[in-house]
Amino acid sequence: MYTVYKKQMEVDQLETVKVKSRAKINLTLDALYRRADGYHELEMVMQSLKLYDSIAVKKTAQAGIVLQTNLSFLPTDERNLAHRAAKLMLETFSLAGGVQICLTKRIPVAAGLAGGSGNAAAVLAAMNQLYDLRLSLKELMELGLQLGSDVPYCLLGTTALAKGRGEVLETLPDCPHFYVVLAKPDFGISTGAVFRALQAEKIGCHPDTAGMLRAIAASDRAGICARLENVLEPVTFQMQPQVAKIKDFFLSQGAKGALMSGSGPTVFALYEEEEAAQQAAQQVKNAFRIETVVVTETVDKGEQGYGLSF
Ligand code: ATP
Repeated sequence: MYTVYKKQMEVDQLETVKVKSRAKINLTLDALYRRADGYHELEMVMQSLKLYDSIAVKKTAQAGIVLQTNLSFLPTDERNLAHRAAKLMLETFSLAGGVQICLTKRIPVAAGLAGGSGNAAAVLAAMNQLYDLRLSLKELMELGLQLGSDVPYCLLGTTALAKGRGEVLETLPDCPHFYVVLAKPDFGISTGAVFRALQAEKIGCHPDTAGMLRAIAASDRAGICARLENVLEPVTFQMQPQVAKIKDFFLSQGAKGALMSGSGPTVFALYEEEEAAQQAAQQVKNAFRIETVVVTETVDKGEQGYGLSF
C-alpha cells in the first residue's frame, strides 16, 4: 500500500514534491558492544519532533543535482547528505534528467538531532514520490542505510526502538506529549570521535530500555523522565564539560527530565506545560549565552511519517 500523508508531503502540478524533514531526539541510547565490523551494537528509543527542515525537490530536464540552502556554511555538493541521497536515487534507478533541491534548515547542524540524516531520508521519500517508483519502506531503508545509520529511522519517524547500527526498527506506541526545549551550545561534536572514544565494555550504567518501553506503553510521563539515559554522555561531557552543565541547569530549574541527544552537544529538556518550556528556554539562553535554543514538541503518528509501509 502506498499513500501520501498531506501533512508531511505535498505534490504540486509543476512536479515538485515538498517534504518535512523532522528532528529526532534519543530518549535512551545504549551501546551493548563493539562489533567485529567496527560499529557498536546499539539499542535506542527514538522520538520525532515538530521541528523540521523544509525540502522541495523538483525534476529538471538537465542532468545533475542543484542544491540550494539558506545556510551559507553548509556544503551544497556531495558532502551534503541531501545531495548524496538524490545521487543515489538517480543512479540506482537510472532516472533521466536531474533534480533541483531547495533545503530550508531550521534544525541545528552537527547537533545530535539527525539533521543531515533526516534530510537524506526526506529526499529519498520525495524522489520515490516524484518518479512514482513505488518503493516500499523496507527498500528505501536499505538505500538509506548506505547514506547513514540514522537514515532508516528518519524514514520511519515517530516513536521507535532502533537496534543494530540503528537500522533494525520497531514502531512503538506514541510517546505521551511533551514540550521539548533544545539547547545547542555554540560548538559541534563529531559523532565519529565520540563513538571512537567510547569503551563499551567499561560502561557502568546501561539504560533501562525495557522499563522505558513499559513507561511509553503506559503513557507514564514520570516513568519516561526517570529513564532518560544516554551512554555517550560521559564521553561528550569529558570533551565539552559545558554540555553537562546545561543538563544540570535544566534539572535544577525544574525540568521533568533532561538528556543529551545522540552524541550531542544538544541537550533537551521535557515539560508538560508550554509556559514552563518557554521560561526554561529563556533562562538557559541567558545563563549560558547560547544562541541556539528552540522550543518544540513531540509528534505522534498522525503528524509524522512519509506514508510508507514495509
Ligand atoms: P546525524 O549525524 O545523525 O545526521 P547530527 O545532528 O549529529 O545528526 P548533522 O546536523 O547531520 O549532525 O551534521 C553533521 C555534519 O554533516 C555537519 O558537519 C554538516 O556539515 C554535514 N551535513 C551534510 N549534509 C547536511 C545536511 N543536509 N544538513 C546538516 N548537516 C549536513
